[in-house]
Amino acid sequence: MTASPDPASGDLTADIASLIATEGPIPLARFMALANARYYAAKDPFGVQGDFITAPEISQMFGELVGLCLADLWQRAGGGQTAYVELGPGRGTLAADALRAMEKAGLDPAIHFLETSPLLRQHQKDRVGKAHWPDSIETLPRDVPLLIVANEFFDALPVRQLIATVAGWREQMVTGDATGFSLTPNTRLMDSLVPRHILDADPGSVVEQNPDAIALVGQLGRRLVSQGGVLLIIDYGHDGSRHGDTLQAVHSHAYADPLVAPGSSDLTAHVDFLTLEAAAVGAGARAYGPVEQGQWLTALGISDRAASLARHSPDRADEIAEAYRRLTHPDEMGSLFKVMAVCAPEWPEPAGFA
Ligand code: SAH
Repeated sequence: MTASPDPASGDLTADIASLIATEGPIPLARFMALANARYYAAKDPFGVQGDFITAPEISQMFGELVGLCLADLWQRAGGGQTAYVELGPGRGTLAADALRAMEKAGLDPAIHFLETSPLLRQHQKDRVGKAHWPDSIETLPRDVPLLIVANEFFDALPVRQLIATVAGWREQMVTGDATGFSLTPNTRLMDSLVPRHILDADPGSVVEQNPDAIALVGQLGRRLVSQGGVLLIIDYGHDGSRHGDTLQAVHSHAYADPLVAPGSSDLTAHVDFLTLEAAAVGAGARAYGPVEQGQWLTALGISDRAASLARHSPDRADEIAEAYRRLTHPDEMGSLFKVMAVCAPEWPEPAGFA
């Protein structure tokens, strides 16, 4: 058996090729995990010069409204000590904006970032110096309510794909060598993992499942039940009513082939909010949403915030109007992106979901 490729360095294409040569085809989920670990360890992907732009990088309004939502909920839940936790904080921009808004509302939480990339940890340190970087969810504080935020985090977790063949459902595997990779169905029958109502779908049909995301929401949900708090999940995705292949690769703001040059592009899949909601409810927590990002930001007052920013900086009015549109308009991020809250059962309902 070959050792697993180093997440941070070496020729990942050659390493995956030799893994396949020794072990046979590897699950697509494993390929995605290896590719993304390399991707985030090796580069800062955000912004115009990078591969993609996320909501907090578009405008400070996004992080501020997330912060205000958390501060409002914390106040209505009775206040007291608490911890701000972010999953995959990227450059730390969302956290910096949210913490500034929270501070104005009288909230000064401890700060914990879950981040695997050493490069992005450094960016986060530059923006939010007093943060802690626990090694895992397990080492998050257990004695205070947790205010947890995950923006474009769940879409980067590895998905398992199952494909219908004439001989039943099989897991999608990656095969090939250093000259190129391709997908091939595994030999083992996986019908037991497929929802009943799609068992006899046409050959070629694909379903995606995200066991890591489900396990994580269950784990965090149990924490919220025992300590109080909330988890805000903001991501692009659907409510479980759709199925199909949503795996995509993005490089320099354009789509790329997910199987070519692993580690050089960002691999993501749409988040299935319905299964995450089931995991949260199964843990004893309450779930709200998903609602569309545009609707959520509007309910939290983004129009007033945009107007006030433009009044203070009239020379930036066009830029602010453009950012407002990108975050809220259905043709931009407004509809595709959704917001779901997982809440401790005795906590009040967070703003924006009514
Ligand atoms: N939330 C940020 C960044 C989104 S990109 C923003 O909105 O701009 C995804 C982030 O998740 C990156 O910071 C990446 O390094 C991190 N990440 C990806 N997989 C992870 C994992 N398994 N554990 C912890 N962090 C991870």
